[in-house]
Amino acid sequence: GSVPEGPAPVLLDGVDVAAYQPGAARPVRAAFVVLVRNSELHGMKRAMRQVEDRFNSRFNYPYVFLNDVPFTDEFKAGTAAMTKANVSFGTIPHEHWSYPAWINQTYARECREDMHRRGVFYALSESYRHMCRFNSGFFFRHPLLADVDYYWRIEPDVEYPCDITYDPFLFMHRRGIKYGYTIALHEYPETIPTLWATVKEFVAQRPGFVRHVNGYRWLSGDGGATYNGCHFWSNFEIGALAVFRSEEYLAYFEHLDRAGGFFYERWGDAPVHSIAAALLLAKDEVHWFHDIGYYHNPWLNCPQDAAAQARCHCDPSKSAEHHYWASCTREWPALPGPNTTASEQAAI
Ligand code: GDP
Ligand code: MN
Repeated sequence: GSVPEGPAPVLLDGVDVAAYQPGAARPVRAAFVVLVRNSELHGMKRAMRQVEDRFNSRFNYPYVFLNDVPFTDEFKAGTAAMTKANVSFGTIPHEHWSYPAWINQTYARECREDMHRRGVFYALSESYRHMCRFNSGFFFRHPLLADVDYYWRIEPDVEYPCDITYDPFLFMHRRGIKYGYTIALHEYPETIPTLWATVKEFVAQRPGFVRHVNGYRWLSGDGGATYNGCHFWSNFEIGALAVFRSEEYLAYFEHLDRAGGFFYERWGDAPVHSIAAALLLAKDEVHWFHDIGYYHNPWLNCPQDAAAQARCHCDPSKSAEHHYWASCTREWPALPGPNTTASEQAAI
């Protein structure tokens, strides 16, 4: 008789990721994490349809939905019906979605109006600022994530145009990857006028924060004088929560939060996460998931190689990496290797 063959190997950067197939015991505790409004139910179902069809109907990772107000029964029933995986619904504690005592709310309003006059997107929105601050400093503290080590962020209306044939959480776990992205862009400088100076203040207080000089180079083309705006686009993230729960990250967030830029400017969670990832993590701990098709208006990541295309419905010529605005995407993997000399460290 013949022995049934196992699954064909799927090599990704030299690792057989097909070896981890559904049904195998899970060495990682992982979940989708979704901050979303009740009014976005239909866009959420649309995103879940693709996440399920392209990946999760075979892997069954749970979803954790978070909201600043309680979820409606309609939202809960509508999303639960999209998956056979576990779903849970959490309300965000008030202190994670409100003004800290040290913020001058009158001045914050003046800043919003001033940004509005200068034509900044979301300039007037208070909720957008609470959202960015929550995603920067609090999502990983939510009690529903207490037993979760890896998260995959999704948003309503995002698209996953390719089959994901392996388990990215296990891939990360096995490779020691702490942060994964699909698209990296330049930030609008007018949303973050003082962010970089605030980061540099913190780095001066904590020189050990910069573990890898090449990460610093990805953020600045002039030896640290200015921030070039490169950031991993955080509406897609697969990451290790331990990064955000670390003493270093918590001190970094606290320093930024005290400076007030989430409210007096419009600091996004994407540059806040990205600067931390680039400085705290070694090059190989941050991974470009070039093979995961992903779309969030207006940017697409579409795998380039022909084998991957057979399982996609996206146009590879439209992938963000071809656009100068998204050149940061390929620049991370092109960085030199992980060794940093003492003199390079001293130069930061
Ligand atoms: P953009 O991608 O920067 O344009 O911002 P989005 O409007 O997509 O917001 C980012 C994420 O936060 C999405 O998943 C939204 O559903 C969610 N979000 C934004 N504002 C709020 C809010 O006020 N309440 C809740 N519960 N979710 C929000
Ligand atoms: Mn969005």
